[in-house]
Formats: sequence, structure tokens, C-alpha cells
Amino acid sequence: MTDYEVIVVGGGHAGAEAAAAAARLGARTALVTQNLATLGEMSCNPAIGGLGKGHLVREIDALDGLMARAIDRAGIQFRILNRSKGPAVQGPRAQADRALYRTAMAELLAATDGLSLVAGTVADVIIGDDGRVAGVTLADGQALTAPALVITTGTFLRGQIHLGTETWSAGRVGEAPAIALADTIARLGFQVGRLKTGTPPRLDGRTINWAACAPQPGDDPPVPFSYLTEQVTTPQIACYITATTPQGHAVIHDNIDKAPIYSGQIAGVGPRYCPSIEDKVVRFAARQSHQIFLEPEGLDDHTVYPNGISTSLPRDVQAALVATIPGLENARILQPGYAIEYDYVDPRELSAGLQTRRLPGLFLAGQINGTTGYEEAAGQGLVAGLNAARHAGGLGEVHFDRAESYIGVMIDDLVTRGVAEPYRMFTSRAEYRLLLRADNADSRLTPRGLDIGCIGAARATAFAARSAAVAEARARLAALTATPHALAQAGFKITQDGRPRSGLELLGYGGVTLDGLRALWPELAAVDSAALEQVRIEGHYAGYLARQEADIAAYRRDEALLLPADLDYRQIGGLSTEICDLLARHQPHSLGQAARISGVTPAALVALLRHVKAGKGAAMDRVVA
Ligand code: FAD
Repeated sequence: MTDYEVIVVGGGHAGAEAAAAAARLGARTALVTQNLATLGEMSCNPAIGGLGKGHLVREIDALDGLMARAIDRAGIQFRILNRSKGPAVQGPRAQADRALYRTAMAELLAATDGLSLVAGTVADVIIGDDGRVAGVTLADGQALTAPALVITTGTFLRGQIHLGTETWSAGRVGEAPAIALADTIARLGFQVGRLKTGTPPRLDGRTINWAACAPQPGDDPPVPFSYLTEQVTTPQIACYITATTPQGHAVIHDNIDKAPIYSGQIAGVGPRYCPSIEDKVVRFAARQSHQIFLEPEGLDDHTVYPNGISTSLPRDVQAALVATIPGLENARILQPGYAIEYDYVDPRELSAGLQTRRLPGLFLAGQINGTTGYEEAAGQGLVAGLNAARHAGGLGEVHFDRAESYIGVMIDDLVTRGVAEPYRMFTSRAEYRLLLRADNADSRLTPRGLDIGCIGAARATAFAARSAAVAEARARLAALTATPHALAQAGFKITQDGRPRSGLELLGYGGVTLDGLRALWPELAAVDSAALEQVRIEGHYAGYLARQEADIAAYRRDEALLLPADLDYRQIGGLSTEICDLLARHQPHSLGQAARISGVTPAALVALLRHVKAGKGAAMDRVVA
């Protein structure tokens, strides 16, 4: 029997962040995973980030998580998506060398103090006499004890692969599923459902006619994800673009009865925003073509990931489809695409700190909560890891709200609304997205992380230096002023009202660039350009954000009206039995969360508010830092 304070099950994206976060808070932590060689394995596309997802990675980094630093070491093509649009909706993305990413993640975990890496399959959860988590039992009979447990088993819970009519049990191709643990979760009474996801065939790059495809270079220079990375030094490559053809669509139509998602072989719901090629061809029948990005899986690897043709059609149909695609006529399939169905737990079983209400001390994070994607998994892992460590130390949960982070938006969406299909992040999910930008993740979250205690010395120093540089740049711009006359002479379009404008003020005006300001005030050339750029972005959004402040204040007021965990809704006058049942099932932590539950009426909210205001409901038994 080995004693820990936190045990994390699963070494994927959620597990890695959970284990590192728990250890950063000083908890003696074990990361138990089936195979230490697959730490940080990318089950599907070899890429990190994208729209909304890139924001999550920046936020994980701002809280001193690992993902951004790992991709900065392993990235072989970096691009800022939506570069032509405003910074709020731009998404950093990087293509990864799969092997380098695994290595980077393994190195970062190995360098984390207080973290033990254990190879093993967790088969059961040990529950103490007090009805709380006490540890886990491994398949080999070994027991590990801890008062806090984070389960992050991804697609492995009762995983079932489908490839045409072939089907077999697996966590992902070549890896065993987690059946015993799935039985444990069902036995504990959790609400469990089935979801599915899929992956495309992998191709041999040496058999692709690259000349028939359009090259897509990355950004030069590449912009790193992590606030701690000064420069990306890994060699960069180009990706290529091709597309499906009407001939390929005919192959799919002719064989649609053999597609597991149409033959009834798959019952789980798949990701609407990441459909299989058979799904796209059937749903968008009028389209003649769908774009495919050919993404190399590594610098020393010939494997190519054709992003856009995820499929579970039979092997021979996949081969026939690939042969109809320009550039892929002679491409050799190294591994066929497949779909996987797996169990997930209804995330409405969780608190905003990702702890299950059913079993105190048990936290869930990642795909097991109905999400899809590495970044979504990692963001949840970080929060679950922090809270598991706090639980082990006798502290209350930390929560992140919708007005401070995409992490907060995601967790609130999950625990309040649940999922009907695999959940992925989009910028459109955030109501305060002008505030929640990828560029300012550090100023939004690193101070929170410093309060919580999860920020290491290197990041604390870097954050202080960057904050000082930004403050200095802001002060310099505020101190520089020019009259409307001088501004007009310098080419600025300005109302001739005689009122001097500061550099800071000018940033809020359309069309004002840093180069324009530097031409007007040459002394700005001596100011740190990254800090100036940060002030420019802030200045650009200042007017909008001032208008959003009132909304955020109202949101936070409702969030501060706490509802006790054991509130007996039947004691509150004016609530129907149906609403009482709904609220008892969700156990919202605040009036604000209650308002976001589908089915809770305005009248019910008024009754709840009256109850809280009367002092009956404002019990502080939910200690939230
Ligand atoms: P995972 O990365 O799956 O990690 C789970 C970890 O748990 C593994 O290390 C495993 O070994 C370990 N484990 C499992 N059971 C046990 C046990 N009992 N004991 C010990 N260790 C255990 N995402 C997208 O965004 N878009 C896609 O198109 C997409 N397609 C996918 C296609 C396939 C075929 C698969 C398998 C995944 C796909 N994903 C896709 C999902 C993406 O891989 C996951 O969202 C992400 O990896 C989830 O991270 P996680 O940490 O929750 O789980």
C-alpha cells in the first residue's frame, strides 16, 4: 500500500495537467496510467490550439500548466488563425511532431517535484468507511491510497472501435479499454451515456504526389504559445491542401450502408463540429468537394494525417475513397480510419470544481465528462488537479468564472447544461469574449494562480517583468500628447476641437497603428515592442470593455449569491415540484448558475432570490476561494 495525497488516473491531456497542477500545490501525487510510453499521446490530430482551443492553451499556460510549453518544444508549424480579424477571435494553432510532443510532456512531468509516475491499470476505487474516496486498486491487485482521486480516462471507458462491420473493444487503436473501471463507475450510480468520435486513415507521405496539392506555410516567425517561450527553435514545415471530389462522394454514397454510423452499429452521438466524411457527404449533399489538410505527423516520420476525412467506412472503401483525391491517387494507407464509442459521465454530476457530488474526493476531467479535444481535456485537468490537491489539504474548491476565462465558460457549460454531443470550445460560447482574449490570458489568470499557489518561481518572475513592461509602455503612451493640429499634420484623422490627445487615447481610434505612433513620437522606438503591442490591443478594446463592465458586474453579483449544497428547495415557497426536482438534481452553487439551468423560470429565480436575501440561503458551507 502506497500513500499519496492525490492520485490521477490516466496520462493523457487531462491527466498530465491534473497531476502537474496537484503537485504544484505541494500535494504528494501519483499519476497512474496504463503505459508510461503514451504520456501526452495525441489520439487523433497532431495539432494543438485553434479557434477557442488556442485560448484554452494560453489560459492553461497562464496558470503554469504544461501544454503550451510542450507544444512550443514539439510544434513544427505555427499559425495564428483568423489573423485578419480582431485579436479577440484569433486562435493560435500549431502542428505537432507527435513523438516530440510525447517526449516534451514526459520530460515536463518528470521534472515536476512531488509527482510519481506509476505504470498500471486502475480497476477499482477504494471507498472509506466515511463514504469518501480512499484510493484505488490496480488490475495487478496493488492498492494506492489517497483522499483525492482524479479520473481522466478519455475514450477508454468501455471503448469500442468500429471499422466497417468490424468492431472490437479498445481504448484507442492498439490499446486495451477500461472495462473494470467502467463497471466501478456504473456501480457507484453515476449517470453514464455513450458518445463517439472518429479519426481518418493515416497515409504514407512518400506515396503522396505533393506537387498536385497546394502548400500552406506557417507563420514566419512562429509565435509561441507559452509566455515563458522566447523563441520556437524546432524546424518548421509546410502543410498541404487538397480536397475530395464528386467521384469520392459517389464511392461514399455507394457504400453508405456499410458505414457504422448509418447502419445502426454505432449508437453513441458524434461531434457535430467534427463530422466524419460520410456524415459530411450525406448532410451536405449539394457540395462537390470538402477541403483536406495534409498534415505531416513528424519531422522524422513519413506518416501524414489527412485532416477532414475522418471515417469508419470499411478498409477497402477507405482505399477507394483516398484514390479519388487529387495527390492521393497512389497514396498508401498505413492505418485505416476508425470510430470509437465510449462511456462518459453526465457532467451535471460535478461541482464547478469538477468534484462529483456522489462521491466526495472523486474528481473527473477530460473526455470522460463528454468533451472532445486535447485542450478542453487539459483545461479541465488543471482545475480538477488544483481542487483535488485542495481537497486533500482540507481546503474548499477554487472555481473559475465565465467573465475571467474560457476554462470557466467550459466548466460552467458542462456542469450547468450537460452535453448532448461531444463538447468542444468555440469563441462564440463566451459572452465576454472581447475580454477573454488569447493575448491577455496572463493578466487575467496568473494573479489568480499566484493567489492559489500554483505558479512556479520562473513564471512569477516572467509575469512580473511583463506586467512592469506593459505598465511602463502604458505610462509612456499616456504621457505623450499632441494637439489635433499636430495630429492632422502627422496624417491622423482627428476632429479639430483643440483638445490634445494622448497616445493611449489615440489607440482607441480606428486605423491608428503603432508604426503611425512611432512616426509621430520617435522616442517610442525605445519602448518594449511586445509591451506596446499589448497596450495597443487593450486600447483598441477599451471602449467596448467599459460598456461590458456593467454586464460583468451583474453576472458576478448573481454568482456571489450562494446557494447551500444541502438546500431543501421544497421549503422555499412558490417553487413547483418540477422545478424543485430540477434544482435538487443540479444543486446550483449560486443564483447565477440556477438562472442558466434550462427549465428554471424567472418566477422560480425570484423565489430563490427572496430566499437567499432573507438570509436563509446564504450559508457559507461552500467555501470558494
Ligand atoms: P486521453 O487522451 O484519451 O487519455 C486517457 C488516458 O487514460 C490514457 O493515457 C490511457 O492509457 C489512460 N487510461 C485509461 N484507462 C485507464 C485505467 N483504467 N488505468 C490507468 N490508465 C488508464 N478530439 C478532437 O478534438 N477531435 C477529433 O476529431 C477527435 N477524434 C478522435 C478520434 C479517436 C479515434 C480518438 C481515440 C480520440 C479522438 N479525439 C478527438 C479525442 C481526443 O483524443 C481526446 O479528446 C483527448 O485525448 C482527451 O484527453 P483525455 O486526457 O481526456 O483522454
